[in-house]
Amino acid sequence: MPTLRPMTHTPTTPGALQGQVAFITGAGSGLGAAFARRLARDGATIVINDLSPNAAAEVAAEVGGETAIFDVCDSVAFDAEIDKAVARHGRIDILVNNAGIAPPTDTDRVQQAIANQMARMEGRIDDLVPPNSTVELSDEDWDRMIKVHLYGTFYGTRAALRHMTPARSGAVVNVSSVLGLRPMAGAMHYATAKAGIIALTKSVGQEVAPYGIRVNAVCPGWIDTPLLGAMDPMMMAGIVMQIPKGRMGRPDELAELVRFLCGPESSYCNGDVFAASGGFA
Ligand code: NAD
Repeated sequence: MPTLRPMTHTPTTPGALQGQVAFITGAGSGLGAAFARRLARDGATIVINDLSPNAAAEVAAEVGGETAIFDVCDSVAFDAEIDKAVARHGRIDILVNNAGIAPPTDTDRVQQAIANQMARMEGRIDDLVPPNSTVELSDEDWDRMIKVHLYGTFYGTRAALRHMTPARSGAVVNVSSVLGLRPMAGAMHYATAKAGIIALTKSVGQEVAPYGIRVNAVCPGWIDTPLLGAMDPMMMAGIVMQIPKGRMGRPDELAELVRFLCGPESSYCNGDVFAASGGFA
């Protein structure tokens, strides 16, 4: 894989988030941690949510922020923690609904997918073996995937809007995925949850647009974070071959987009959806 070089310039105004309070879910790792670093660099005070107290504490120490340890599927906890942040700081300006999980890698299924691909290329259609990803998906796995992504995004957005609406100000950024725009076989529940986040974003974005609040979504492509760490290397190599840019993305490249959507520079973005996928979307 080619070396990933850090970015050398940004299109946003340094320090533009001074005095603002940003609440970021799943910010103990990967993209969320990169968002925390980026928003803190422009002056925001960050509240780091995660399930992992240690991971959250580490990022909070780095950015001079605070932690809020709870499961985003718990609406009571979400309301309470947003209210606490507002009680402490007198405001909430930014919410990034980022917490997420990936479907577990099933090595047998990956091997079968590769064998199926070979059979397809050789025209041996009768040799294809059905993957049964949907048939074998359990109620529990379906529920958890939809809850973390879709319910979590709803709970967070609702809790933040209760404060942003009277303030007539605020920015919500929802983290969807390219798979919400371009679903792939084998991760139907993930793609469905991420597509739901796009619809939620557009609907709520339209609702609150006249009241000084912006709700937008980002659709990251394949980004180098611990989320993809468990993916089969053969499968990952096959995916990278389909990315026109020729490589995975870096969390800091997504953080630049999220920073733009959180700040005054994106004043005309409302209920809009932005992919950063190296051309994959
Ligand atoms: P990651 O695994 O590095 O980080 C996700 C964080 O969310 C973890 O710290 C985890 O503890 C936390 N989390 C998980 N469930 C939670 C819950 N119920 N409540 C609170 N915290 C929870 O993953 P990442 O790649 O940084 O993913 C962040 C977001 O970006 C996810 O929504 C993911 O679906 C999305 N995304 C990632 C990619 C990618 O290629 N990495 C692509 C598209 C979209």
